Amino acid sequence: MVLKEKLPQLLAHKTPYYLYDLTLLKNTLIALTTESKKYNYHVHYAFKANTNVKIIQLIKAANLGADCVSGNEIKHAIDNGFDASKIVFAGVGKNDDEILFALQQNIFCFNCESIQELQVIDELALSLNKKASVALRINPNVDAHTHKYITTGLEENKFGINPYEFETVIAQLKTLHNITLIGLHFHIGSQITNLSPFKKLCLRVNEINNYFLRKGFDLPIINVGGGLGIDYKNPTANAIVNFEAYFKVFHKFIELRKNQELHFELGRAIVAQCGNLISKVLYIKNGINTNFAILDAGMTELLRPALYQAYHKIENLSSTNTQQLKYDVVGPICESSDCFGKAVELPTTNRGDIIAILSAGAYGEVMSSNYNLRNTVKSYYLD
Ligand SMILES: *Cc1c(COP(=O)(O)O)cnc(C)c1O
Repeated sequence: MVLKEKLPQLLAHKTPYYLYDLTLLKNTLIALTTESKKYNYHVHYAFKANTNVKIIQLIKAANLGADCVSGNEIKHAIDNGFDASKIVFAGVGKNDDEILFALQQNIFCFNCESIQELQVIDELALSLNKKASVALRINPNVDAHTHKYITTGLEENKFGINPYEFETVIAQLKTLHNITLIGLHFHIGSQITNLSPFKKLCLRVNEINNYFLRKGFDLPIINVGGGLGIDYKNPTANAIVNFEAYFKVFHKFIELRKNQELHFELGRAIVAQCGNLISKVLYIKNGINTNFAILDAGMTELLRPALYQAYHKIENLSSTNTQQLKYDVVGPICESSDCFGKAVELPTTNRGDIIAILSAGAYGEVMSSNYNLRNTVKSYYLD
């Protein structure tokens, strides 16, 4: 979709707001499910990427499961029709109330991140007279070659159980009678655009899968997490991720036994490209070396650039000027990191111009805040 052509529609709403292209989301879901079905792979949508009700209802309609990282996400998934038997619960710090709630809902699986967590889940399951299905989240020590704040699969990261702990875990499991170990879980990081880390992951999974078999655990579930990246530089040309190539890597390199299912947890690759943040230029400030375009949207609406220097393509939808100038595109929040892009080339820009920040559908609206007592950001939809 070319946003510029939608300008008259866009002007009908007060900025800033999120604009979701639901047709693109539907087409992305069709591409995803077409490819995953080829191999009977199971995909859980990573709720933390976007919990907007219209978005998750379309994802539910495509029959995906849910990957949740809090009790409230589990509740939100169930309230919106997701089947508890397709919900996995990850997170390095699940609290007792969240674990109890998940047990009461009979979710599919806890992705368990530490030995102590196994003990707590066992204790709480016993208190409800239930048996919890658990997958061990394993830290495979695979470098995702992504930004240090979004890599998760290295020994130095807080996530998962490390191989040197396996013996202890196995000994523990023998004493935990309210836990059933059903699988192994991995997630190496996010915004991974080169597929070779996924190949490395497959090879590690094979070793670890075999290790557990040797120890007497023939586990039916292998969950390789998410992390598939999108093209932030060319969002229009590459609006839908190459799911075919992604799943092919797993098909080629992972060795599953006949009784084993492969599960995925994708967030960004499903929702990132369907969302845009629409904003208006409040002021232009021309400095000696730097021109500033000050927007009415800031880090309160889209935190990713301030949080981890994330790149988002920025377009001026209203300017018809042919002359290009460089601007630091910034928000109104009282923080120097409140900057969407430095030296961004735009057509000569004026107060009142409409600016689109693209590829903002994942980790955008969900991270918005009321800092500076800002209004809660609104959302509108193109269908
Ligand atoms: C965040 C997360 C995901 C989804 O990551 P994407 O990069 O959005 O695909 C999947 N699994 C776990 C455990 C996560 O923490």
